[in-house]
Amino acid sequence: MEDYYQILGVNRNSSKDEIKKAYRRLAHQYHPDKGGDGEKFKKISQAYRVLSDDKKRAEYDRFGSGFSGYQSAGGSGAPFGFGFNQNDFGHIFDEFDWGDLFDFAFRQESRRSQPSRGEDIHASLEIDLSETLQSQKKKISLHKQVVCQRCQGQGNEPGTSLDKCSACRGTGQVHQVKRTIFGSMTHYSTCPECQGTGFAPQKPCNICRGQGRVKEKVTIEVPLPAGVDNNQILKFSQQGHAGLRGQTAGDLYLKIIVKENERFVRQGDNLLSLLPISFSQAVLGDSVKFKTLAGQEIKVGIPRGAESGQLIKIRNEGVPHYGRLGRGDLYLHLKIETPKRLTKAQQELLRKLQKEGL
Ligand SMILES: [Zn+2]
Ligand SMILES: [Zn+2]
Repeated sequence: MEDYYQILGVNRNSSKDEIKKAYRRLAHQYHPDKGGDGEKFKKISQAYRVLSDDKKRAEYDRFGSGFSGYQSAGGSGAPFGFGFNQNDFGHIFDEFDWGDLFDFAFRQESRRSQPSRGEDIHASLEIDLSETLQSQKKKISLHKQVVCQRCQGQGNEPGTSLDKCSACRGTGQVHQVKRTIFGSMTHYSTCPECQGTGFAPQKPCNICRGQGRVKEKVTIEVPLPAGVDNNQILKFSQQGHAGLRGQTAGDLYLKIIVKENERFVRQGDNLLSLLPISFSQAVLGDSVKFKTLAGQEIKVGIPRGAESGQLIKIRNEGVPHYGRLGRGDLYLHLKIETPKRLTKAQQELLRKLQKEGL
């Protein structure tokens, strides 16, 4: 496991200020824009991201970097370690940053206006009610802009170089000075020529024509947290369209549609279902089998003298609470069924009962 303190060259007792200074110095040294080592720069940014945040630092000190979602590395290595328990969930969710640490360093380190990032994607996903019972991964297919493989998102033909953008002289932004009653104010905006990258390809890539991205049908796997509800929208950072020329991707917003279930209705985190019983079961009480939403058979006790419409509560057989421990309950709505067809023997017995006043 990587040691964030080591990466930043500080020790475990270093103050926030010392960490910040170390980060600044290293970020400056390794910044890819300045010809530094991109991988190293990412590591530095990641280490700083955790150690500069009191809460994350404390967690890192306790659990190490394997904890929750901190190990984001642009793209493939999905940061969510799937064996998480629900307690961690809220957490992982906040941290769903497939993230470009690059962008982070960008905001921290300079006053540049934010370059245009990729567009967001809005999609929906239909699932069964039973799929809300536990966290899982779901595959979804999307048509989206992805980083061009030929030029690695740079926009230039491999082997040719990137020149400084002449419109912004490589700064990625253009400015305008306006005179106001408070004095002159400088207004910065993203350079329209290079979309804020500061570079112009000498020879644009043949595949993406200098865009650094291409549209493709891709299948991605997204984590579906337990307890997710109908119409809930999940946000997956940077899983939207790739940005122009390697810039930050947009986000993916996934609306969850939970299909109706034949046997169960969800109310909050509780489940409601019907349990048909016979007249004699209602009168004498009984123990019956019931198949839960998870498909397990459980035994349900029918109390003596049960009424039609009575609810029987079965603890913890509902839907898991979203983002926290525990789950709802299952309510079985008793329904006494009146038999429509009777055998001769049954009729005789019922007549006897009738005579007894039942
Ligand atoms: Zn390309
Ligand atoms: Zn420019």
